[in-house]
Amino acid sequence: MAVRLKEPYFVDDMVVYFINENEALVTDYDCRWELRASDSNCECCTFMFRKRVNSGFVCRHIDAVRRMKNKP
Ligand SMILES: [Zn+2]
Repeated sequence: MAVRLKEPYFVDDMVVYFINENEALVTDYDCRWELRASDSNCECCTFMFRKRVNSGFVCRHIDAVRRMKNKP
């Protein structure tokens, strides 16, 4: 992984802060809460709701984690 742990990174309007190799705290610009997200899971309402009907759904927090992890 090219990103460093415990360093904040901007991804679009979010800040991604990796706490370990798999999980990051993601903060949205308009959100009061830090969301814990990995490349396959997130605790935001959108993901909780959408994954029920679409198991392959990826919210923007998961997408941000994936993009950081896949950075060359
Ligand atoms: Zn999410």
